[in-house]
Amino acid sequence: MPKRESEEGELVLLASPIGNDLDLSPRARKELEEADLIAAEDTRRFWDLCRREKIRPKGRVVSYFDQVEKEKAGKIVEEVLEGRRAVLISDAGTPVINDPGYVVVNEAIERGARVTACPGPCAAICALILSGFRADRFCYEGFIARKEGERREEFKRLKDEERTAIFYESARRLQESLKEMEEELGPERRICIARELTKDHEEVVRTTLGEAAKLEGMIGEIAVVVEGRPKKDGDAGDFVEEAEERARKGERLKDAVKEIAKREAVSSHELYRLVLEKREK
Ligand code: SAM
Repeated sequence: MPKRESEEGELVLLASPIGNDLDLSPRARKELEEADLIAAEDTRRFWDLCRREKIRPKGRVVSYFDQVEKEKAGKIVEEVLEGRRAVLISDAGTPVINDPGYVVVNEAIERGARVTACPGPCAAICALILSGFRADRFCYEGFIARKEGERREEFKRLKDEERTAIFYESARRLQESLKEMEEELGPERRICIARELTKDHEEVVRTTLGEAAKLEGMIGEIAVVVEGRPKKDGDAGDFVEEAEERARKGERLKDAVKEIAKREAVSSHELYRLVLEKREK
C-alpha cells in the first residue's frame, strides 16, 4: 500500500540513478517535483538531471555536501518541523551510503522530525547481487583506505570473515589494492569487480585474486565484492540433516549435496561422505 499523504513535514532521503536515468523511479520524480526544499549534494548535477529528465521542481534548491552538513542540517530539520517536505539527494545512488546525509538524519531523529526513504539505486547492492556470492549475510566496507597500513588491516580482517564484503575503490588505485588483497587473502579467494554499473560500458568480472592481477583497462566507477572465507571441510557436517531431508523428499542425494555445497561453500565430497557414513550407522 502506498504511504499515506501527510500534512506534516518530512525529510525524504531520495536515491537517484548511478548511471542510467531510467532508474529514476516515478515516486522519486514526484518527490522532486513536489518538495518544498531540495538539498542536493551538487546543485549543478541536480539541475542537469532535471533537464535530462524534464523534472520541474517547485521548491527551493540548496547545496548540501559533506563539508557543510553540520552547518546546514539544523536549518533543514527546522523547515521539516515547520511542516515542509524536504528532499535530500546526492550526486548518484543512495544518500548516506558514502554520501552526505548522516548528520541531517540524526538531527531529524533527535528533534523528532519525520524521516522517510525514497529507495532506489545503490552501487554496493547492485554489485553484490551481480557477484553471485552469498548475499544472505554481507558487510559493506565503503571506500578502501588510502593509507597502506590501514588498507592491509582491512584486508587482514577479511581473512576469517565468512560474510561477503563490498568495497568501493577508485580505478586508479584498484591494481594496487587487488595486489595487496591477494597477498593477505591468497590467490584463490574469489572476487567480483563491477564497473560502470547500469551504464553502457557496464562490466562485471568474476574471478580470483590471483587472476585479478592480470586485469587491465578497469576504468570508470568501480565496486569490488570479495567472497567470504570458504567454510572449512569440517563444516560440511552442519548440512548432513538438510541433505538427508531433501533426499527423503525425493531429490537425488547427489543433486542436493551439490547444491548445498555450492551454496554453503563447503566440500561436496565431504558432505556426501558424511551422509553415507551416517546412513551406515
Ligand atoms: N551513495 C552511492 C551509492 O549508493 O552507490 C555511492 C557514492 S560513493 C561517493 C561513489 C562510489 O560508488 C564510486 O567511486 C564507485 O566506487 C561506486 N559507484 C558509484 N556508481 C557506480 C557504478 N555505476 N558502478 C560501479 N560503482 C559505482
